[in-house]
Amino acid sequence: MDWSAKITGSICLRNNLAANPRKVAAMESIDDAAAEIWGSGGRLTVDLGALARNWRTLADRAADAETAAAVKGDAYGIGLEQAVPALAKAGCRCFFVALPQEGIRLKALLPSATVYVLNGLLPGEAARLAAAGLRPVLGSMAEIDEWAAYRAAGGDGRAALHVDTGMNRLGVTLDEAAALADRTEALGLSLVMSHLACADQPEHPLNAAQLGAFATAARLFPSLPASLANSAGLHLSPDYSFDLVRPGIALYGGRFGTDFPALEPVVCVEARIVQIRSVAAGETVGYGATQHVKRPSRIAILSAGYADGYHRMAGSSDGAPGASAFLHGRHAPLVGRISMDLMAIDVTDIPEARRGDHAELFGPNIPVDQVAASAGTIGYELLTSLGKRYRRHYVGGA
Ligand SMILES: *Cc1c(COP(=O)(O)O)cnc(C)c1O
Repeated sequence: MDWSAKITGSICLRNNLAANPRKVAAMESIDDAAAEIWGSGGRLTVDLGALARNWRTLADRAADAETAAAVKGDAYGIGLEQAVPALAKAGCRCFFVALPQEGIRLKALLPSATVYVLNGLLPGEAARLAAAGLRPVLGSMAEIDEWAAYRAAGGDGRAALHVDTGMNRLGVTLDEAAALADRTEALGLSLVMSHLACADQPEHPLNAAQLGAFATAARLFPSLPASLANSAGLHLSPDYSFDLVRPGIALYGGRFGTDFPALEPVVCVEARIVQIRSVAAGETVGYGATQHVKRPSRIAILSAGYADGYHRMAGSSDGAPGASAFLHGRHAPLVGRISMDLMAIDVTDIPEARRGDHAELFGPNIPVDQVAASAGTIGYELLTSLGKRYRRHYVGGA
């Protein structure tokens, strides 16, 4: 397979692919050409095949609803230019970005795509947005007024209407929406949508309240497709799917596992061991001397840190253990704080660990959300912060 030639002995990919004998055979024929990856401290592998399969899994789950894809934030950090063709090949035709600049990049890749710009319209942008073939998601009466003026002047661009159903971030009120119902055509509306605030907490009462309010909003615009669900909304119940679903994080392998057992990890981040040192019992490791080792330890220093987007709060201290890395089939706990370019892991129990080895920071063996939880944040933040210094490999593409 074409992609296999690009990988150079990724430990985590080997583990990931272990279930697929054909891929393993392809992997084994690859020389561990460490020389090919010189110059960077780590490797970031993006599995575009997994991305495409995740999209199809979600599309199957969405049943009769169309499945779009949220690709804002450079496709959640994995790379818009690589993600969009893979999603398009899987069958995706409709995309959501945050900003016009992202939409312009997307249109250059896929001119036929329907592209909604979630952050809406900044003053004076209506004509330019429409000329770029982008559809703003109109989320306030000020935006509606600007868009209406552009349309009245002969513009034929299309737009979505965002109705706020309880999140109080973007969107017009239900009353405002009701007053717009008979302007659907004049405004060139092609979608009515809202966004869930608490879909990741299935028991939260706001979910049902938003569902009820959105059903009302959708009824005001019977000619328009309606869209409410993000990834977590898609999981709540089929009632949330309406005509179009807009998953993001689930496509990229975040929040998978118990929620969506069929979804696969897409990103694997590995850092290389720069050195392995012995640390005597009772000594500390790293800035601030925040963690004492309890036994004579082998400490591996990895060539990645918070400048690579690894969250500094995922580090470890005596009081609060941090995240871990994964190598040679085992977890190695972080020791001490994360530095800008380095971090330390305990490999006392992994005697095979050697200078130059790759250790997985997150990927098939360590869910990105687990590292995020160690840092008090969410997988979205780790993915969208993926550093620029890793050597990037895209595998599994067409
Ligand atoms: C980001 C976003 C999505 C996708 O959300 P996920 O939780 O990543 O699935 C959908 N709709 C809107 C309005 C968004 O901002």
